[in-house]
Amino acid sequence: MIRKKSIEDIDLKGKKILMRVDFNVPLDNGNVRDDTRIRAALPTIEFLLKNGARLVLVSHLGRPKGEKTPELKLDPVAKRLTELLGKRVEKIDYTIGPEVEARVASMNDGDILMLENVRFYREEEDNDSDFARTLAKPYDLFVNDAFGTAHRAHASTAGVAEYIPALAGLLMKKEIEELSRCLEEPGRPLTAILGGAKVSDKINVIRRFLELADNLLVGGGMANTFLVAAGYNLGASYHEQEQLSLASDLIATSKISRCRMVLPSDLVVTEDLKQNSNYKVLAPEEINGNWKAVDIGPKTFTMFGSIIKESSMIVWNGPLGVFEVPPFDRGTAEVAAAIAESSAYSVIGGGDLVAALEKLKLSDQIDFISTGGGATLEFWEGKELPGITALKDK
Ligand code: ADP
Ligand code: MG
Repeated sequence: MIRKKSIEDIDLKGKKILMRVDFNVPLDNGNVRDDTRIRAALPTIEFLLKNGARLVLVSHLGRPKGEKTPELKLDPVAKRLTELLGKRVEKIDYTIGPEVEARVASMNDGDILMLENVRFYREEEDNDSDFARTLAKPYDLFVNDAFGTAHRAHASTAGVAEYIPALAGLLMKKEIEELSRCLEEPGRPLTAILGGAKVSDKINVIRRFLELADNLLVGGGMANTFLVAAGYNLGASYHEQEQLSLASDLIATSKISRCRMVLPSDLVVTEDLKQNSNYKVLAPEEINGNWKAVDIGPKTFTMFGSIIKESSMIVWNGPLGVFEVPPFDRGTAEVAAAIAESSAYSVIGGGDLVAALEKLKLSDQIDFISTGGGATLEFWEGKELPGITALKDK
């Protein structure tokens, strides 16, 4: 188990703290459209302020690629955080330099300040050591609460930790605990559900769960690639031609593994992928011509549901169909409903699946929703995440 020092382990009073948050939120006309990521950091922010820290927040927003881009300034985020916190969050137009140093030097215990978008500097993503040193200079401590960017070795996620002691925030701590639990103390039977578009995005996660899980249920575009590799035609369905031999290898691995891999036995197909277009349900061997498989069918979600019912832990990444286009969100919704009914402990991760369950208003049925997309996948793969490695060991 990864054990890292957190903000609960030290005296915070009077400490000048630089905290990396993931406030990379969607904006709409200069307003925050979805504040989930801001709310996820509130417990850490409130804990630090209550304990007398002098707190300075740093985040990226969008992909300014080293250019000072007016639409990607963090002012709307500071405004939203002010509302959520019920306390004014001052935002300054600088990230490093004398203006920041002067402002931090005049802070009092319990004050909070937000810096400008750290990706306005090219040195951030290059993890430039001079930039990291300058970024760290005004502070006593670094706190990382940005789990969603922990798989990146950037100056504000990893580099700064060379210059000041680095601790986990409460969100970071919780992510590490919850995601490790699935790998290290899984409830049995452990069922992994994998969907989403591509096998190629998730090869190592598939491998890992073939070793670790008791059941691996596959849906989404990824399942199409496996079915084509298994010899079905699948008509005009989305699949990855270049991944067919890898998919065959993974199927072969599953045959000798104790993990049972379950591919869809029926699929919802349409000729025209738009809202409420005509569709039908076919077995894989019945699909041909212009039909596209866009969701798992009723036999499949019923089968998945009965496996879920017998499971004691569930991990899930990736939607099981083209959930953006109803009714092809049904497979994802039915599986989420089965999880809601089961007594299994459930953990999900991945940007699109989280968005799908939000849209279906089913996210409150899940025990833990990871804030990471790529970071969650890399954690489950067993990769080292630079933003976590940089934190002090407990
Ligand atoms: P996540 O972000 O949860 O990890 P991915 O990014 O891997 O998920 O995949 C999400 C995308 O997969 C969605 O845009 C969805 O429309 C697409 N998808 C799911 N099933 C299919 C399918 N059968 N055919 C084509 N695309 C699909
Ligand atoms: Mg995605």
